[in-house]
Amino acid sequence: MILHTPDLGADPLPLEGVLPAEILELEEEFAQAEAPIVTRLVAQRTEEELLVSGTLQTTVRLQCGRCCAWIDWPIHVNGFLVRFQEPLDEWIDLTPAIREDILLALPIVATCPPGQVCEWEERQAPPAEPVHGQDVWKALDQLKE
Ligand SMILES: [Zn+2]
Repeated sequence: MILHTPDLGADPLPLEGVLPAEILELEEEFAQAEAPIVTRLVAQRTEEELLVSGTLQTTVRLQCGRCCAWIDWPIHVNGFLVRFQEPLDEWIDLTPAIREDILLALPIVATCPPGQVCEWEERQAPPAEPVHGQDVWKALDQLKE
């Protein structure tokens, strides 16, 4: 996402777009970027600086750190903010800043979200055993005696 700064006036300029997943350069063993990145940004130029702020949204594929299943991991960067001091370069590429903010939003270790079956959790759960043994009614009978 490249801005031509001489075109920027005093009015805020909306920058809504869709960037390809490839800009993330996310080709890790545990993480893959496949979905496009939706940007809702506004560029605002003042006398001192150019301010670009807004939200970024995408979904990456991460491997659960416990059961190794691939999960869709939604990413919402609500406070994207980048500043460029005057004098501005003629061309400003926002892509590195967008890439960095999305990568920073990734978890160190992803785990299956609540509501989704994580095989690791299933293996950890001990078989349910009745607190009072198998014969609950026998215990009640003893109370009567
Ligand atoms: Zn899992």
